[in-house]
Amino acid sequence: MKLLEDRIHLEGRVLGNDILKVDRFLTHQIDYKLMKAIGKRFADVFADSGVTKVITIEASGIAPAIYAAEALDVPMVFAKKAKNITMNDELLTTEVYSFTKKMTSTVQISKKFIEENDKVLIIDDFLANGQAALGLIKLMEQANSEVVGLGMVIEKSFQDGRKQLLDKGLKLVSLARIEKFEKGEVVFAKADDS
Ligand code: 5GP
Repeated sequence: MKLLEDRIHLEGRVLGNDILKVDRFLTHQIDYKLMKAIGKRFADVFADSGVTKVITIEASGIAPAIYAAEALDVPMVFAKKAKNITMNDELLTTEVYSFTKKMTSTVQISKKFIEENDKVLIIDDFLANGQAALGLIKLMEQANSEVVGLGMVIEKSFQDGRKQLLDKGLKLVSLARIEKFEKGEVVFAKADDS
């Protein structure tokens, strides 16, 4: 998605060898116009998949996921990383190792929000080693729902996540695919939607 790649070139900052900081439009301050365009693109590429629910994980997946849900006209549910006292229903839970926080946390979704015949589209801000996505897939397996695809805003293609998801036979659409970081600059691979 050229609009997204241009924005990454303009405002993304490479940190160390493998982290991209995009807090000006995605992970802290959010550009809702860009998120709306991203949501619309996901809705277009998964238009024929019969999606009944969009799933993501807090926090930065929520903005693109809500606009994808709006464009597909289906509910959006996000997995929570911390349990609070209002979560007294039956839960789907799994452990997810966070690439950026370097720690494992329990993520959960109330069972009542995922139905057995749901066709789920998983959305997230980044695909790195695939741990967040695989965790969400496990939650959907617990609910006996079907994952019909995954939409990633930014994929770091030099990490393992893409392979993990494709090995499962899943449809993956990443709107910006980063081949490598070179001297602090982002080099893109061909995006899945182009
Ligand atoms: P994975 O689970 O695929 O290893 O990592 C994906 C998760 O880690 C995303 O939900 C995102 O929050 C975070 N993440 C991974 N790589 C980056 C990165 O380069 N920049 C930022 N801002 N977050 C990242």
